[in-house]
Amino acid sequence: MSSILRQTREQGISLRKTFLAMLFVSIAITALLLFMAFHTIKSFHALSDATDTYIELQEAADSLMKASDYLTDEAQIYTVLGDRAHMENYFNEAETVRRREQAIEAMEASVPDSEALNALKTAMSESVSLMNREYYAMKLMLLAQGDGNVPEAMKDVEISQEHTALSREAQEQLARQMMHDEDYYAQKDMIRTDLTMCIDELKNDTHGTQSSMEAYMHTDLVWMTVLIVIQSLAIVLLLWVTTSLGINPLLQAVEHIKRDQKLPITGANEFRYLAGTYNNMYTIYKKSIDSLSYKASHDELTGVYNRSGYDLIRHSVDLATTAFLLFDADKFKRVNDYYGHEVGDRVLQKIAATLKDNFRSDDYICRIGGDEFMVLMVHIGRDVRRLIENKVAQINTDLSDAEDGLPPITVSAGVALCRETDNPQELFHDADVALYYVKEHGRDGCCFYSPEMRDKPEGKD
Ligand code: GH3
Ligand code: MG
Repeated sequence: MSSILRQTREQGISLRKTFLAMLFVSIAITALLLFMAFHTIKSFHALSDATDTYIELQEAADSLMKASDYLTDEAQIYTVLGDRAHMENYFNEAETVRRREQAIEAMEASVPDSEALNALKTAMSESVSLMNREYYAMKLMLLAQGDGNVPEAMKDVEISQEHTALSREAQEQLARQMMHDEDYYAQKDMIRTDLTMCIDELKNDTHGTQSSMEAYMHTDLVWMTVLIVIQSLAIVLLLWVTTSLGINPLLQAVEHIKRDQKLPITGANEFRYLAGTYNNMYTIYKKSIDSLSYKASHDELTGVYNRSGYDLIRHSVDLATTAFLLFDADKFKRVNDYYGHEVGDRVLQKIAATLKDNFRSDDYICRIGGDEFMVLMVHIGRDVRRLIENKVAQINTDLSDAEDGLPPITVSAGVALCRETDNPQELFHDADVALYYVKEHGRDGCCFYSPEMRDKPEGKD
């Protein structure tokens, strides 16, 4: 059994190691896929944030433009109608609502150090410089209307002496003109141009962010596709390995076991190990079975087949071409009585050996029991009587030879020649009848069975 334990485990692909490797590959791919999915979600959020920021900042730029337009409208209406409420609306927007400053703050928070912010700030400074003109025009209007209630922000505005000297109508007209002339609208256009630039920059920045996020997402999706393909291929490979190295060798092994054969050394390392171990055990098992069956079918003393062996053989031969020769030692009891049982045993061994020597190796020599032997001559021709007689005569000559120190002995033989029957017992019985006949007629010879002999008393069986 120790040789079984020494069975090598080195050869073939190990299913255990393969499964472990596949497990690690699968875990690694799953981790990568999760990472990619997380990265894609992040890119998607960045894309969405960029779009939200763009909308928010565009609203801020719009808000600045609306605030600037509102200031323009209120200042223009005031200079046309002279209704102070519009001037108050103006200052309310400039000092309290402060939409322009809020737009700048929103953009500074979202896109500091950006071209868009710079453009917005330029628009803001132009709006502020436009306010100086508006302050001047509105203060001139206050002067024309004789209204001394000057808002705080306009107190520092100095009306030139030339304009102070003008009539009230001329001052009102000048104020309206300052708010509607080409210079005024040129400055307004510059604000619009800067705001357009600001929005364009915002668009560019947003498009840049969107493009890079799209590129990230595209790369992630390509990698995810590649990993899914690898994962699928790994599953196919695993199925192939399991089938070709595991299931097929297993089914093959079952077929070999059914046919009582050794297992082929094939498949995975584990199956090779199993097959090698099984084959070693099979060899040991077969040897012990052979040994047991030899012992069960052979006579221990003489080495020829025993009664059990004969019982098996008689059913395997073709009775139509087989002769049954039943031998019995003559007066064997006397040998035992005179020379002892041990010498008797050696004489029995000599009889068996002499029978073996005088028959072909194809023929079967069996010790039926005691001093009785059955020889089955197989594949014989029709005319064998003389041959058999000669063989029996030669056997008795050999047994009479006392050179080996054993007492001489003779044998008698009853012969039943081939018969068309499927019952070997009948041939045995015929041979026994013939043997009895020989014993009754002087021993030391042979006799062929004939039906007339059945009239005599029954022989042994
Ligand atoms: P016959 O010529 O009529 O056959 O006379 P026989 O004395 O041979 O009588 P029989 O065949 O009946 O006796 C066989 C004897 O063989 C009986 C038994 O003591 C002896 N014998 C049987 N088996 C063995 C054995 O294994 N060893 C020995 N030494 N003798 C055995
Ligand atoms: Mg005898």
